[in-house]
Amino acid sequence: MTTVRYEAPHVVTQDRDDRWLSPGAVEVSNGRISAVGPADKLSPSEDAVVHRLDGMLLPGFVNAHAHTPMVLLRGAGEGLPVDRWLTEVMWPREGRLTPDDVQWGMLLGAAQLVSGGITTSAEMYFHGEEVAAAAREVGLRCIVAPPLLVTDDISLFGTWEQQLESALAQARANQDDELIDVALGPHSAYAVPEEPLREAARLAADNDLLLHIHVAEQEHEGDAIMRQHGVTVPHYLEQLGALEARVLAAHGVWLTPDDIALFAERGVGVAHCPASNGKHASGLAPVTELREAGIRVAIATDGPASHDRLDPFEEMRTAMRLARLRQEDANALGPRDVLRMATREAAEALGRDDIGAIEVGRRADLVHLDLDPVVLSPVVEREDVLTHVVWSGTPTLVRDVWIEGRKVVDAGELTNLDLPVVAAEVAERARRLAGS
Ligand SMILES: [Zn+2]
Repeated sequence: MTTVRYEAPHVVTQDRDDRWLSPGAVEVSNGRISAVGPADKLSPSEDAVVHRLDGMLLPGFVNAHAHTPMVLLRGAGEGLPVDRWLTEVMWPREGRLTPDDVQWGMLLGAAQLVSGGITTSAEMYFHGEEVAAAAREVGLRCIVAPPLLVTDDISLFGTWEQQLESALAQARANQDDELIDVALGPHSAYAVPEEPLREAARLAADNDLLLHIHVAEQEHEGDAIMRQHGVTVPHYLEQLGALEARVLAAHGVWLTPDDIALFAERGVGVAHCPASNGKHASGLAPVTELREAGIRVAIATDGPASHDRLDPFEEMRTAMRLARLRQEDANALGPRDVLRMATREAAEALGRDDIGAIEVGRRADLVHLDLDPVVLSPVVEREDVLTHVVWSGTPTLVRDVWIEGRKVVDAGELTNLDLPVVAAEVAERARRLAGS
């Protein structure tokens, strides 16, 4: 077993003690982090191969909510609110998707995710096997939720019973895959009737699978449920027993104080998608209240048809801006907060304690950033380094990325993919889906 030791001027661990080591050393054996410490105090393990890096090492970003194959639909339906955008533009095109389309779309999108430093992505998309295959090819860690969606536009996936059975079969098939985890993804309480929703939640709880669902993205999405059941969507989910499962609620914009208290009590994680919420004018999520209540809030890109760039840096900044505007407080959410929400806290929101931090025993998902002196200066105090990375960083700073200890980006280049070939294929397929 080889041990590789990386030394860098800065190692931001996001570990329990929130250590920032300057300089720091990280050792990796067998895909796991085996040692972390100050470079001058932690002596190298015997036989360790030492790599001295410039810049900063961070835990890989954990993207808690995405529909990455939607690169095929990037830009479509510009200017529409979520409900019209889904029913008039997305769902009709998605009804024409083949498994191959999804695999090509995911290849291109996953390439973009890892190039930006995202090492885990929680995906909700059709043809889960193809999503997983593409993620494997790029080397991306993925939590794949084949969506459960009951609508006339998309009937090619069979009855809801068949959709759930096929998701469970995929979970069994990927049980031993170190990169792929399978979740259940009932799209939302408004797009899935009561019985299938209840059954999805029961199966998630019984099989210890994450239940990944959109909740309270738009102001009026819960109106029908309120009329029918007299409760908000979170309380409706509670009545169905859905919060017994490990739940990741995507968006969580329109939550009442009561909903927030319920989510906190039930340990529900929230995926916050600020750029998408801004693009669709969905609203300003109560991030400060959620975190104060003890809820784990993850930063997420949403799909590339909603936040077109798939850029974790821009997502962190947008989260800070929206939280500050909402609270009218320039201190409402800071760089260290959002960095945590994109790494350790995101992993916690997904119920994963094996990723999201540079900590002994966790999986070796690491990002090496160039501290470009043009973009990230001046550094007057040490804290400026981190502040600049979050406020001014871009995916172009990402130099190397390791997932499960394996290098998937090397000096800014993908190690596993011929990108121009993939991009050309996706462009061709996107034209067909658009019907032109
Ligand atoms: Zn979504």
